[in-house]
Amino acid sequence: MIEVYSKALQESISVERIIKKIKGTQEGPTMVFFGGIHGNESAGVFALEKVLKTIDQTNVKGTIYGITGNLNALEQGKRYIDADLNRLWTFDQLAMLDMTPKKHSETQEQIDIYNILKDILKTEKGPFYFIDLHTTSSKTLPFITINDALINRKFSKLFPVPIVLGIEEYLHGPLLSYVNELGYVSLGFESGQHNDKKSITNNIAFINLALHFTSVYQSEEIEKYKKQLQKAAEGLSDMFEVIHLHRILNGDTFEMQLGYKSFEDVKRGNVLALYNNEELKSRYSGKIFMPLYQEKGKEGFFIIRRIRPFFLKLSEWLRYIRADKLFVLMPGITWENKRKEVLRVNLLVAKFLAKPIFHLLGYRSRQLDASHLRISNRERAAKFKMYKNEAWYK
Ligand SMILES: [Zn+2]
Repeated sequence: MIEVYSKALQESISVERIIKKIKGTQEGPTMVFFGGIHGNESAGVFALEKVLKTIDQTNVKGTIYGITGNLNALEQGKRYIDADLNRLWTFDQLAMLDMTPKKHSETQEQIDIYNILKDILKTEKGPFYFIDLHTTSSKTLPFITINDALINRKFSKLFPVPIVLGIEEYLHGPLLSYVNELGYVSLGFESGQHNDKKSITNNIAFINLALHFTSVYQSEEIEKYKKQLQKAAEGLSDMFEVIHLHRILNGDTFEMQLGYKSFEDVKRGNVLALYNNEELKSRYSGKIFMPLYQEKGKEGFFIIRRIRPFFLKLSEWLRYIRADKLFVLMPGITWENKRKEVLRVNLLVAKFLAKPIFHLLGYRSRQLDASHLRISNRERAAKFKMYKNEAWYK
């Protein structure tokens, strides 16, 4: 049991690793909510505690879990103690987890959460939904982040807030990318600024809507929640794609110009930050996204752009017909293994293929070395069959 404090509400609550598990009297999906993977983001924990305690178990179809993230850091109100718990979820790291010496406070947290996760997938029934609740250091409209798989796109379109995809190409090891690589629907929801009261109320609305869309639990106030999020998002509900990240390297100093908020328009040439005491100008026109206004964190800011509906449709179609089969006919491109989810691209040979083409087909890339890209496909991993009978999927 730990104490978590909310600066917004000026109150504390006591929570355990599992805030609450509600097993319904009827069968249905399993919904797993995480709050406080970052310890200075208590809004999700407060919202989960508030919503789950009011739910009448006899009206639940399926199972609901509310899980706390970084207990130690939550108690101290810090993003993390030794290592960012939302950057540790790679397959390599997980394979070594039992052998990792516990020099990090976060190692034990990860072991605990990993065990719960495995247990849920083993003992509960699908379809599974994973939702991770976060807040940001800057002011922001509420928004969803997803890994770019069609099941994620489709489910997240139900919520009246903007959606940002492609962030997984820039972040290494977020929890949800891991869950998504297992093939399940997984959404990140950023509800507002860390210490803003609205971040809690937006989370409450979001949790209720998610339970409603999956038919796990029906609240009577769904219309109210929809309107609330719509208003908070200022009517914006487009899909955006990350086109740039300003990464902060070890030892560098970074100071964001004051006053930027997520989704604000920026023009090429606008001064965005002081980087190593020099003015850093935007190389792109677009919208600024998640500017960093706290000490901890390696991502200075992102630039995002709206994806035009034509390209959304085109990419959907190309994925349905599995056009990526054509890639391996091209020189320099091979499947990494028999599962056909990962391509290796020799850049010296396949120079002509640009990232946007891979993106259209659901691939996200990682540079392996100077001449090779490793690109993995979300579509081929997605367990879309698991969701095909769900009301929102049809
Ligand atoms: Zn966070």
